[in-house]
Amino acid sequence: MARLYFDHNATSPLRPAAREAVVAALDAGNASSIHAEGRAARAKIENARSLLARHFGVKPELVVFTSGATEAANTVLRPALVGLACENLLIGGGEHPCVASGHGFAATARVALDGDGRLDFTDLREKLGFSRAPMLALQAANNETGVIQPVAEAAALVHEAGGVVVCDAVQALGRVDCAFAATGADVLFVSSHKIGGPKGVGAAIFSRRAVIPAQAFVRGGGQERGHRGGTENVAGVAGFAAAFQEVLAKGADEMTRLRALRDRIEADVTALAPEAIVFGAGAPRLPNTLAFALPGLAAETLVAALDVEGVAISSGSACSSGKVSASAVLASMGVPPEIARCALRISLGWPNNEQEGVAFPSILARVRQRMRNRA
Ligand code: PLP
Repeated sequence: MARLYFDHNATSPLRPAAREAVVAALDAGNASSIHAEGRAARAKIENARSLLARHFGVKPELVVFTSGATEAANTVLRPALVGLACENLLIGGGEHPCVASGHGFAATARVALDGDGRLDFTDLREKLGFSRAPMLALQAANNETGVIQPVAEAAALVHEAGGVVVCDAVQALGRVDCAFAATGADVLFVSSHKIGGPKGVGAAIFSRRAVIPAQAFVRGGGQERGHRGGTENVAGVAGFAAAFQEVLAKGADEMTRLRALRDRIEADVTALAPEAIVFGAGAPRLPNTLAFALPGLAAETLVAALDVEGVAISSGSACSSGKVSASAVLASMGVPPEIARCALRISLGWPNNEQEGVAFPSILARVRQRMRNRA
């Protein structure tokens, strides 16, 4: 059997339509040139911009392409906006490191999560009480647990306090509705490679001009209407648009299918390992994500053993640049460290099928038994 790739929250393989669009645009002209080659490249970028703008219900000039979500977070989480000066940043307890470490605020506070990974509204109200013109960074859905945040409810409170909400919609895009109308956010950012587009491209999307950062994202040649200088990544943007187009056409069916597959895997795993702890089980979760721990079995060892068996899943620990550290998300949810070190994440995506879902639990059972025998 081919390998089981169950790590789509890390990155999702390139969709064939995206691959085709990337290849077709690799040789594109410079989108700033006025000749035919330049105009053809420009058309690809503006078509992609219009697609995102239409979906999110804003004018095209409010969509700015970036090198991905990390750049977008680093850029939009700034105190000085075109129409507002934010004084402090409130950061949801489950935010990705590109938010938690990428912002430009001197005054910050972390808003707690409850045991299911949802924002603690008592804590949010208290922190808003100390804030004037705050910015809240709150993700639409968590990459480790899949827990969906009540962004609209939080946004109502933040707006009452005269603030703005920046929503990391990276994991929500194509999986649950994260448009402005659903989230009430003021700024959103997204990433192409989580939906089967190429890596290294994403976008910041603004609900209105007043919430655009006062300073250009990248200073240089004035591209992206002066917000982000640098020759545009035509192939990346075209691939992103092709992936998004497919998500818009097939996403709802894909998610219905993946939810059934995820639920089946969850039921099989908890049946074979009754000691399993499912994280965020009491909260609404992304249909493709299952985060769980098998207490006593270290996640790193299990992930490595499953890899040898041909299964790619992720540990719940934060792993970047080869360093593994305890998950800040699970810690915010009050998960004890000895359980957090056993956290695993399965995240499904467009190519996964039922046969793979059926195969996984027996592979896990075999690996678990081997680890137990060794222990
Ligand atoms: N936000 C979330 C929730 C993510 O899962 C990721 C990717 O892991 C990012 C932001 C960063 O995205 P990018 O790889 O486009 O920089």
